[in-house]
Amino acid sequence: MALLDLDHFKEVNDTLGHHHGDLLLREVATRLNAALPPSIMLARLGGDEFALLVEHDTPLADLTALGELVQSSFLHPFWVEGLGLEVGASIGFALYPDHGTDPSTLLQRADVAMYDAKASSTDRIEIYDPARDVNSPRRLALATDLRAAIEARELGLHFQPKATMADGRVHSVEALVRWRHPVYGNVPPDDFVPLAERTGLIHPFTDFIVERGIEHLRAWAGSGLDLGISLNLSMRNLLDPSLPVRIGSILEAGGVRPAAVTFEVTETSVMTEPDKTMRVLHGLADLGVRLSIDDFGTGHSSLAYLQRLPVHEVKIDKSFIWPITTDRGARAIVQSIIQLAHNLELNVVAEGIEDQATWDALAGLGCDDAQGYYLCRPITTDDLVEWLADRPRDPAVRAGRVGSGSGPA
Ligand code: C2E
Ligand code: MG
Ligand code: MG
Repeated sequence: MALLDLDHFKEVNDTLGHHHGDLLLREVATRLNAALPPSIMLARLGGDEFALLVEHDTPLADLTALGELVQSSFLHPFWVEGLGLEVGASIGFALYPDHGTDPSTLLQRADVAMYDAKASSTDRIEIYDPARDVNSPRRLALATDLRAAIEARELGLHFQPKATMADGRVHSVEALVRWRHPVYGNVPPDDFVPLAERTGLIHPFTDFIVERGIEHLRAWAGSGLDLGISLNLSMRNLLDPSLPVRIGSILEAGGVRPAAVTFEVTETSVMTEPDKTMRVLHGLADLGVRLSIDDFGTGHSSLAYLQRLPVHEVKIDKSFIWPITTDRGARAIVQSIIQLAHNLELNVVAEGIEDQATWDALAGLGCDDAQGYYLCRPITTDDLVEWLADRPRDPAVRAGRVGSGSGPA
């Protein structure tokens, strides 16, 4: 069975009124009914949620094809009283009997998968994955332990240097959270940050990360290291109107220059609820910190839209960076992102640079800053200080041969 939920339906209701919302739902139902094969039952569950009942034993490939078929119904705008409305949909599948044997369990799990599809920047179709389910035993254990880990300060930060491409100078680092769990070992942030978001832990988590980041920044400044720091924020953070005030007081207590701090927000997290996030972004910008759009290119937004946001930087997603030496199309995309960003006076960072050829290609395209395993992997503060001390002093040497000093994994 599949659960389908419209993206941004609330905005249609909020901006155009419930009347248009209702008409839109009807249009969606009509179009879906026309597109779906007769063997599939379509039902509206309520709100902007629809369920699709698919025959038992349908092969996985057919489910994916079905998901794509449904997605293709959303490629064209829906016409409601002369207005063409662009809406998307997120689809989650749960399979009998693997994911549940009764309707309510299947529905609940399809809902979890649908939520994953919504949260994903690339996939609008997901099949239930117990490993990612907050309600699965491992996830429940992690959620409980995460709370304790934050309180016991068991989470740590690693830092990945970022260099100016022109002269190889390292001017700042990105803080990346690390959690070494006593039973599960290293838990990747992509696993537990979403968990923190869904279990109400995101506020203490974020405060902790920001406080630690600022402490490190102060320590580096104290030992004569002139570095900036980039800190990641997550989707929920941008929906929290109290965030700017909390961050403001952390910065003030730490006594650091706000301009030395950059907050990275992903393109998708900004685009999910643009009106709400806009307010928080302005609140942050008013503090004097820098803002960067992370994973740029994955959220299908236009740079022209970003221009309306108080951002200073775009960080091109690694999936666009990796193919640039082999794929002319990818290279052209990166080139136009860089040009357009420069026209909008935004700084451009490329993330995920893994070799000299990619570095050279990006330098040739005029990219401002570089980050990636080729320069250095994320490392502890002690390793960072050592690594920085070992870097060649001569800019020509640094820019030409960057990869010599890659830190430990
Ligand atoms: P991100 O902010 O886009 O961070 C970049 C990720 O790419 C990091 O993974 C980094 O280790 C990895 N990376 C850097 N250079 C390379 C490279 O050359 N090749 C490859 N293959 N990977 C590279 P990591 O540390 O696992 O973080 C993943 C994501 O988790 C981050 O993506 C960020 O969205 C989130 N995250 C990490 N730390 C925090 C945090 O403190 N707070 C929040 N809210 N999210 C965080
Ligand atoms: Mg980042
Ligand atoms: Mg990124």
